[in-house]
Formats: sequence, C-alpha cells, structure tokens
Amino acid sequence: MNLIALPAFEDNYLWLLTHQQRAIVVDPGDATVVNQALSRLNLRLEAILITHHHPDHTGGLMALQKQHGCPAYGPQREAIEGQLRRLEQGEEVTVLGHTFEVFDVPGHTAGHIAYFLPATTAGESPLLFCGDTLFSGGCGRLFEGTAAQMLASLDKLATLPDATRVACAHEYTLSNLRFAKAVEPDNLALQRYIEHCQALRSAGQPTLPSTIGVERQINPFLRSRESSVRRSLLSIAPSLGDDANAFALLREWKNRFK
Ligand code: ZN
Ligand code: FE
Repeated sequence: MNLIALPAFEDNYLWLLTHQQRAIVVDPGDATVVNQALSRLNLRLEAILITHHHPDHTGGLMALQKQHGCPAYGPQREAIEGQLRRLEQGEEVTVLGHTFEVFDVPGHTAGHIAYFLPATTAGESPLLFCGDTLFSGGCGRLFEGTAAQMLASLDKLATLPDATRVACAHEYTLSNLRFAKAVEPDNLALQRYIEHCQALRSAGQPTLPSTIGVERQINPFLRSRESSVRRSLLSIAPSLGDDANAFALLREWKNRFK
C-alpha cells in the first residue's frame, strides 16, 4: 500500500491510502483536491474515513460520496452531514482488504475517533490516522474535551508500537517543535528531529507521517510526566496538581506561546 499526503487549505493534509488502483481518503476537507489526485494517479475511490466533525476534515464528504458512490465511515457521537456508517471504540472497519481498529480519542472534539491498522502480513509498519488528536511535536486544541480526556487519548496512542506511522491532519510540526524546545531545551533527540524537519520543509516535503517512537521521544504532550517537562512546568506554575492538571498547564502554555 502507498500512503500519500495531499496538501489542502493552509496546512491540512488529506491522506490517501492506495493499493494498486484502489484508494481510500481520510478527512477529505476539500473534494477538488481529492478528485485531482484520483485522476492524476488513475485511482478509484473505495471508501472515506472521517475522524471528527470539523469542516476542514469533512467539507468534501458529500460531494465525494455523490460522485464516487463509496461508503463513508465516521464517529458515532458527532453531528456530520452525509451517509456515514458510525464507528466507536472497539469496532473495526475493513478497507482495501485491511482491517482498521477504531479508538475513541476525545479531547479536540468530544466524539473524535482514530483509525489504527496493525502491521500488515505484507510487512508494512502499523499506521494511525489520528486527525487533530496527535500532531508531530504537539496535540490538538481542547475545543470540546477536557485535559484529562486528551491526556487519556494520547496515553492510549502512546502505547502503540514504536514503528507506527502517524498520519496527522496538519503540518504544524515546526511551530510545535519550537514550543517543544522551550519545554525541553536539553532533549537531544528533539534537537536532531528539529534539524531533520527543517531540512524536509526547506525541500518542500511534508514532515509527516511521523512515528509513535519519534513522538514518544520528542513530543511534550506525550512526555508530560517526564521530570524534564515537570521542571519546566514548575517554572511557570507554583504547583502542578495531578497528571491531568499538569497536562492542562502544558496545553495552556502552548496556547500562549509565541
Ligand atoms: Zn479539528
Ligand atoms: Fe483540523
């Protein structure tokens, strides 16, 4: 299978997963971007996966369904217009002959889901479509969920195999990494990853997919219990409280960070 990031809007990626001439798309915010890629690569659209209800993830859904007549899957607990088969934690969806597991990952939105494909028999690494929950070096804003929910969602994703490819929905990496460096100035893996990502962006390449192994080393939102992160948090707050409260302080710091 082939994983292709289609840039859309300012900084979104619509993910195409292809096998021979068959394709699925994840979070098609813009139907035109998807249709152009399908005709350029001579692909047939077989399914649409949706992670959450925001328009930059769903805007192309109705048009694509109408044109291609393919099934679409999305979260059980979100209001999304279209013919969706609704999925929640523990359910599975089979597309392109591969079965994805569905996780509930509330936090960015209340009903946000993620799609996980374990390693395939063909030897391909696991693959995660996580929408706006986990970004490289960061995480989604808490629009509908609580810090405790987002922390639990990220904890769940952090237990996936290190080799898991993380297909995030936005190219926010470099700005996330500037914040990560402020949080963990002595993290050498982070420093090396910043240089790696700067080189990719200078060459006009996406920094994504990332991997769970990399994110566990460099992403402060997966590292909020590390002593290095706790020390930095204590320089901005007199006390941290429990894990969810420390995570909330980290998220609020990022919101203010320029
Ligand atoms: Zn969103
Ligand atoms: Fe988004």
